[in-house]
Amino acid sequence: MIIVMKTSTTKKELADVVAKVEVLGYQPHVLYGVERKVVACIGDERGKARLQSLETLPGVESVMPILKPYKLASHKPAAGRTVIRVRGNGRGAQVEIGSKKFIIMAGPCSVESEAQIVTTARAVKRAGAHVLRGGAYKPRTSPYAFQGMEEEGLKLLAKARKLTGLPVVTEVMNPSDVDLVAQYADILQIGARNVQNFPLLKAVGKIQKPVLLKRGMSATIEELLMSAEYILKEGNTNVILCERGIRTFETATRNTLDQSAVPILKKETHLPVIVDPSHATGHWELVEPMSRAAVAAGADGLMIEVHPDPSQAWSDGAQSLKPETFAALVKGLKPFIQAMKRTLT
Ligand code: PEP
Ligand code: MN
Repeated sequence: MIIVMKTSTTKKELADVVAKVEVLGYQPHVLYGVERKVVACIGDERGKARLQSLETLPGVESVMPILKPYKLASHKPAAGRTVIRVRGNGRGAQVEIGSKKFIIMAGPCSVESEAQIVTTARAVKRAGAHVLRGGAYKPRTSPYAFQGMEEEGLKLLAKARKLTGLPVVTEVMNPSDVDLVAQYADILQIGARNVQNFPLLKAVGKIQKPVLLKRGMSATIEELLMSAEYILKEGNTNVILCERGIRTFETATRNTLDQSAVPILKKETHLPVIVDPSHATGHWELVEPMSRAAVAAGADGLMIEVHPDPSQAWSDGAQSLKPETFAALVKGLKPFIQAMKRTLT
């Protein structure tokens, strides 16, 4: 932390600041500039909001952190990147998320019936998807909208996994449901609306199943990484980050896909980063171009909504792809994936 003193600071004010820094357990070093003095505070400043409060002392102009506030999520080149491994049933291949392999997660917004989820699982597997998505607990803006099939939906996802071998990702909304969802899911999703539900983040941090953490619609990149930090701090090191669009003044799309978040997150953290172009755009025609852009931006994978008949979907039909459109998208992505020196196997 750096404490910048005002040009008018007196000797006594400077001495008081130095004394307070020592009391807080930091080593103060005063740097004498031409116009003003600066106190460098040596010690681990992360999580130490008390140093920041020195800004209220007489003679202090500002207190500036020099370290990133996320310790565990931050990228340390020597430690390499995190690769998360998941496997569906015994027949399924192991899926690596965060390696050279590009990963596609696909499936309906909501689980609606056995026929719907099994048909979709088979279709997306045939098209080349690696993970089946489907919501059993749905965070809906309206309390009158379909809220999800809950445990019945989890059972249907498990059935689809058994039949296809695809690992399953599904959302958990409530800390008290974490153990139940973890019994069925291979990856637990924390949705955009829960990115700062701290009890939920702590609860998924206490299990060892991978967590897909979506960026909140108004969460900064730093806030997303601090939420990841909550999970990592509890001991769960298997966190996948997901850019799914943020809310801006633009109304042509459901959200604004922040593609620049991908290279920023890849630089800032060792965690895998995927993109959800479905929720980001809200329109099925935009899913393919944004998927290509995500590959080019360096994403480790995609999450795409697919429904056997989007016109009949119980949620998010407008942004869902038909199975054949999804298959064409995957085929068309191959040259882009190759150009990024990655594979789609
Ligand atoms: C979802 O993936 O079904 C979902 C609700 O997404 P988000 O949390 O990004 O809105
Ligand atoms: Mn959805």
